[in-house]
Amino acid sequence: MKFHNQTNWQTADLLAIAKRVIKQIEQYGFDAECRKRLILTVVPARQQNWCSGYAYIKGKNAKVRIPKKSNELNDHIKRDFAHVIAHECAHIMGHKGEKWMRSHPVWGRKGADKYFAWASEMTIRKKEAARKTKPGIEDKITALDVRIKKWASKVKRAQTFLRKLTQSRKRYEKLLQLAAQKTASQT
Ligand SMILES: [Zn+2]
Repeated sequence: MKFHNQTNWQTADLLAIAKRVIKQIEQYGFDAECRKRLILTVVPARQQNWCSGYAYIKGKNAKVRIPKKSNELNDHIKRDFAHVIAHECAHIMGHKGEKWMRSHPVWGRKGADKYFAWASEMTIRKKEAARKTKPGIEDKITALDVRIKKWASKVKRAQTFLRKLTQSRKRYEKLLQLAAQKTASQT
């Protein structure tokens, strides 16, 4: 079997269920040859909150959709997932005719709760989001450099402004002095 996972659920968890289903349906004729041929792809179901799938009769490709919305899949969905894998594998084996398959204890949804009851105990975990790497010492120095540059430019602007204020003050002092001298010379 080739197994492809296009969902946000962990591959190991999905694969564990798929493998167990395939082992279980051996007794129903899903033999080594079928197993070798099978390409099972799990894809996210866009809207629905249940599993579905399709496969080609006597083909090799089987696709199973699994809900993606929830953060956790309930027991029913896990059993449903196992059931849909089995059902699609039945098509790979060559079974066709949805009507009789639906009432079949293994290929049909009705029997799924009983036959795949074990799936309730399986875990299907969400893939972990890529963890952000902790900033290293070099990153910290770079960040500090940016802050130092910013404050240094503030100091420079403050110094320029202080100089201008002092010059203005001196100018007014001089005017005051000149005015005083003028008054003195007039008397
Ligand atoms: Zn079918």
